[in-house]
Amino acid sequence: MNIRIKENSWIARIAAYKLGAANCAIVIGPNIHLYNATKEQLIHNTPWLRHEIAHVLQWKKHGFIPFITKYLLYSIRFGYSNNPFEIEARKAESDLDFLARINIDEKNIC
Ligand SMILES: [Zn+2]
Repeated sequence: MNIRIKENSWIARIAAYKLGAANCAIVIGPNIHLYNATKEQLIHNTPWLRHEIAHVLQWKKHGFIPFITKYLLYSIRFGYSNNPFEIEARKAESDLDFLARINIDEKNIC
């Protein structure tokens, strides 16, 4: 699995605006879109990297359209923090061998 990080993403900029956040990462398929954050910052913040890659796995597991549909429905029903996809991604943050288990290291990230 290869993961691409896109800086200065207009999609992440819109998400940041909607969330009222100064910076934002949003995952769309295998692409992590960043706004007001750099690829270096993400790669060197392992808990954050695990969180975003957990979302990449969710996209992969559910498929593009089903994932975005479920994510939006869960967000409406449970809110952002209690969205089951966000709960799962937060668990990955402290899962020490998460990246090794799914065979991700820096060479899979461009
Ligand atoms: Zn998240």
